[in-house]
Amino acid sequence: MITRNAHPSLSRGICAALLSSLLIFTLFSPQAVQAWGNAGHEAVAFVAWQQLKPEVKTRVITLLKIVPTLHNSDGTKSIPGYQEWVTDLPAGLSQDQQNLYLFMRAATWPDSIKHQWLKDSDTPPAHLTKEVNIGFTDTASHGYWHFVDGAFASDTSKVPATPVPNAATQIAALRSYIASSEDDEVKAYDLIWLEHLVGDVHQPLHGVVRFYAGKGDQGGNAVPVKLPAAIQKTFGSAPKELHAFWDDLPGEGAPPVALPVAAKFAGDLTAAPATDVAVTDPAKWAAESMTMAKKDVYVAPIGKSPTNAQSKSGYLITQAYYDKAMQDAKDRVALAGARLAKLINENLK
Ligand SMILES: [Zn+2]
Repeated sequence: MITRNAHPSLSRGICAALLSSLLIFTLFSPQAVQAWGNAGHEAVAFVAWQQLKPEVKTRVITLLKIVPTLHNSDGTKSIPGYQEWVTDLPAGLSQDQQNLYLFMRAATWPDSIKHQWLKDSDTPPAHLTKEVNIGFTDTASHGYWHFVDGAFASDTSKVPATPVPNAATQIAALRSYIASSEDDEVKAYDLIWLEHLVGDVHQPLHGVVRFYAGKGDQGGNAVPVKLPAAIQKTFGSAPKELHAFWDDLPGEGAPPVALPVAAKFAGDLTAAPATDVAVTDPAKWAAESMTMAKKDVYVAPIGKSPTNAQSKSGYLITQAYYDKAMQDAKDRVALAGARLAKLINENLK
């Protein structure tokens, strides 16, 4: 199935010099080959960074410097780490801007390890109740950490219990690890996973799976959509499934290319309400996503079945649907970023 990615968010005041250097960087970067997800995650990190305490920022950067470049056994493949993130930075950034962009880039790492040489699975191993926590020597990419499959049905289908471990249980576990006295080598791994998963669990389709005729829709990955031209041009490459449509709302692009896209999206956001930021239970964050999915995702023009009987190319997204979805994406990114900052400020040792 198509990977489930997540979200973004914001903050204020990128200076003109930074924007122009990012523009130049963007112009000379290779085109993204993957659907977004990266801009959303980087935007969540952008929002969070503005709200981290200064001493916590210093600690975070110390940990990010540990993220290694991973190589497969015959040396034919590698996964970028801190050294490559630095190499990919646009020129002309201040030290603090560099740190911001490194923190944003780090949020995409858990997606960069998918479909490489690690063991991929979107289904938790049977009878697993507790995950190993061994850092960068882990040989699995843990696809099932990226979402919570809270199930509901649009017909009378019976639905399964929510599988575990999932994004919510894993955020709780990782949060306790970064508050512990474990080695920094493992803590660096736990921190960048937290950056990613707090974003993911705020994407409405990362909190839900809809059943119809006894089958789940993989969080909207099995629901084809098509876009009218006016909406299509707001996306770099038009998403073809409902899940990708929601993933791509904050922008798209490979991790380095998405940085300025994410900064622009995140910089324009309204701050999340303090009462919402105060909620610290990741299971509640996922439940909010499910509620939003029922209210704003699986509604007209999206029908009850995954496929559109009138058109094989999918449900035609309307302007009203798009406008509501975009506002939801902005709200969820702003909230995810604020919650991520609070989590790191209060737990990272
Ligand atoms: Zn993800």
